[in-house]
Amino acid sequence: MRRIVYKRVMEETKNCCVCQGRARGLTCVRCSGAVCKNCAHFISADDFPLAVACGETVPDGTFCHGCFLAEVDSALLAYQAAVKAAEDVFVYYRTEAKESYFIRRTERPLKTTETDDRTKAMLQLAYLTAKAGYNCLVDVQLNSKKKITQGYQKSFWSAIGIPAQVDPVQIQNRSRPS
Ligand SMILES: [Zn+2]
Ligand SMILES: [Zn+2]
Repeated sequence: MRRIVYKRVMEETKNCCVCQGRARGLTCVRCSGAVCKNCAHFISADDFPLAVACGETVPDGTFCHGCFLAEVDSALLAYQAAVKAAEDVFVYYRTEAKESYFIRRTERPLKTTETDDRTKAMLQLAYLTAKAGYNCLVDVQLNSKKKITQGYQKSFWSAIGIPAQVDPVQIQNRSRPS
């Protein structure tokens, strides 16, 4: 009679640095501490879509709760505040030079990268504007380019405009980025 000896491979189990439970292989990308599924925060580029589209470096990976509070939480709040401010940016297109004549143009134009959508390009430009501390865009131009990708013709959009500061009360009823 042959006996088959099963060798049990014991997985190296570490305890979670937050709750001391079994960590099962998850590690915090910031402090390298083991972390269990319940205590882990899974952060990815999807949590910062506009920032990523604008080429910013964002927190990415698994974080323990301590590192989440130290690094990610404030980054998420700052990102959300910038997105909200971007949605409130006043927009004057280049064709509206008459309406925007009173706005001082002192800054250099901001420019987005190419994106597959007109609205995304506009939001990117507004996001860059809000992050630079301005609440208005003047002389905005949206440019589209057609490119053939994998046999299909696709449009790529980019936006350019000059950031400016305006008194919101003075220009109510202005269109927002869209
Ligand atoms: Zn835990
Ligand atoms: Zn950590």
